Formats: sequence, C-alpha cells, structure tokens
Amino acid sequence: MADVLISKVKKGYGSVVALREISLKIPAGSFFTLLGPSGCGKTTLLRTIAGFHRQDQGSISVDSEVLDFTPVHLRDIGMVFQDYAIFPHLSVARNIAFGLKQRKLARTEIEKRVSEILEVVQLTHLASRMPHELSGGQQQRVGLARALVTRPKVLLMDEPLSNLDAQLRIDLRRELRSIQQQLGITTIYVTHDQEEALEMSDFVCVMYKGVIQQSDTPWVIYHEPANQFVASFVGSNNFLPVSLEQGVPSICGLNLQPSDSLLSSLLAKPAVASIRPEHIKLCLAGDMAQLQDSHIRIPVSLQYRSFAGRELRLTALTPDGATIQFITEPKPEYLELEENAQVHLRIRKNRISFFQADEEGARLS
Ligand code: ATP
Repeated sequence: MADVLISKVKKGYGSVVALREISLKIPAGSFFTLLGPSGCGKTTLLRTIAGFHRQDQGSISVDSEVLDFTPVHLRDIGMVFQDYAIFPHLSVARNIAFGLKQRKLARTEIEKRVSEILEVVQLTHLASRMPHELSGGQQQRVGLARALVTRPKVLLMDEPLSNLDAQLRIDLRRELRSIQQQLGITTIYVTHDQEEALEMSDFVCVMYKGVIQQSDTPWVIYHEPANQFVASFVGSNNFLPVSLEQGVPSICGLNLQPSDSLLSSLLAKPAVASIRPEHIKLCLAGDMAQLQDSHIRIPVSLQYRSFAGRELRLTALTPDGATIQFITEPKPEYLELEENAQVHLRIRKNRISFFQADEEGARLS
C-alpha cells in the first residue's frame, strides 16, 4: 500500500492552463476519485501521475519516492483506460501475461500470477478466449487484470466504465470496489459521473477549471459542499437569491432568521440560498396548520409533474419567478393536482445552505 503525494503541480498545453496548482494527499489503500466536468483537468492529472505527461512545476511522489523524472514503465503504476486498450491478437491469458513477460519473470511465476488474477476478476473460464469473443464488461475486466497482475503500488483508472451500458456500469462499480478492497491497492479513479464517485470512493476530489474545489469524503462533499459549484455539480440543488428586507435576509420575501455571523456575510456580499430537492415537502391546504418556527413555507404554483414509480418529481414557480425542483413520495392526492395548482412548499430552515453569489462562491453557512 502506498501514499501518493501531489505537491503544487501545474501543467499547461501551450496557452491552455490545465492544472493550476494541485496539491493532494491520497492515503495508502484508499479509493480516491477525481470528479469534475469535461475539461476540468482530471485526465491531465491522472496522466501526469502515470508519467505520460511531465508537469511544468511541482512534484509527485509515491511512498515518499519522488517520481518527477521517472519514466512511465519504471513508476510501478497500473493503468486502466476507458477504451480497454487490450491487444486484439492475444488471448485473455496472454494479454494478462504480457507485462510479466516483459519483466522477464519465470514461466511458472507468470502462470501462477495470471491464474490468481483471473480468479480475482472472475475470468478463469474465459482464459483462452480472444478479445473479440468478449463482451465490453469482460474486456474491461481483462484491462483491469492486466493492470493488476504486475502488482503495482498504485492503480489509475480513467473513466473505465463509460463505454458500458447503464446496468453493467452499476454492477461493475460494485465489483471494481470489491476487488480494490480485497487487494487494498491505492486507487485513483477519474469520472464525470457524480453518483459513481459517491458510491465507490473513500474520498472524492471535485475539480473545476484546473483547480481543486473540494477534497473530502463523499458524505462531506454531499452534505457540506465547500462552494456553489460543488453544491450544483454533486447531486441536485435549487438556488434562490437572498434579499435583504429591511435588514433581514429572506428568500421569496420570507424571513430566514440567520445567525449573526451569516447575517454580516450576507450584508457584505450578494448571496444565494441552496436547498436540495429531497428537503422540500409539498404542503396542501389540509397540512397548513403544522408550520413551526423551524420551517418556512413558500407559496408556489405547480408547473410540471413526472411520476417515476418510487418518487414523484415536481417543478414549481415562486411568486418572484424562481423555479424550484423537488421530489416527494407519490401520494395519490399529489397525482391529482392540476398544472398551476397553488400550493406551499415547506422547508426546514436548517436544511438551507448559503453561498456567495458567484459560481465558485464559498459556503457561508
Ligand atoms: P474529459 O472529461 O472531457 O476527458 P478532463 O477533465 O479529463 O476532461 P483534460 O482532458 O485533462 O480534462 O483537459 C484539461 C484542459 O486541457 C482542457 O481545457 C483541454 O481542452 C486541454 N487539453 C487537454 N489535452 C490537451 C492537449 N493535448 N493539447 C492542448 N490542450 C489540451
């Protein structure tokens, strides 16, 4: 097991700055995911760790060994690619044995290691098949076995599931995670799929515009996003402008009674309130008496409703024209509501977060 330390790494392509100044500590044995939208720099960072790119500044070390001038093949790092990158003319077993033959291991050792890793990725019965006789999921397991068979210190994976269909992706997520835990190998995984990142990882690092926005456990990333970008990229969120009504912060004209420290931040700079769809409750005429001080109730007009079996997804319009999306359990009385029905949304005040109004604006509370 190996720690990976990335210290002040910068990387550009001509005038494009892909990595601004990346510093990260990836704990030994962890499953660490780089998450972000297309172009945020995650592949560049992964390929720089692998040694395919040389950083312009900064340093990368594995297990305290500085790798900055170490060529790719001497880095003791395994890599799995999105497009499998397996040799079409070699059988499954020979694909997996390839790296071991290059390292000139003894034939009996090669056979032992190949059969061990075939078992780990559950491909023993397909050892003599050719790649074109395999499904996408099986080909990707060959890619994984080939990366693992040399027993690298670190495993890097660049969107390994994105060429597979939806159900297989979900099955393979669990399988990959269980193989990683079984072997205890430090793994750095790249994806733009936030659900995949949350489900698989010990730690998630959210990147945007070549900058780390937040690096923490999936729980903290979801429940305490560091800024507005993370709050909108990970999970869904509604953002509503916060106005000051006679010195009191409010959304949709409703007093929020924030703490003193929040109040002074709000007075200094424009802010937005964010509310996750699952924290919004639909409130019909019969429920109106239940409002407590700990909640606010926003009058809205229902716009759109979609029944998705387990849940009902709704869109509503506030009096000042903001759109709010939320989900509820699909009670029959909710399904009967007409478009433009006038209802209320009930939100617990402590479920509301505040951010400075610009895109990468920091969390205020
Ligand atoms: P994706 O999810 O689309 O693969 P990414 O987050 O992995 O995106 P990178 O591929 O690392 O992003 O790219 C980061 C930035 O660097 C982008 O602006 C991209 O256009 C640019 N870039 C990447 N490779 C090159 C290259 N070889 N030459 C010039 N610019 C590049």
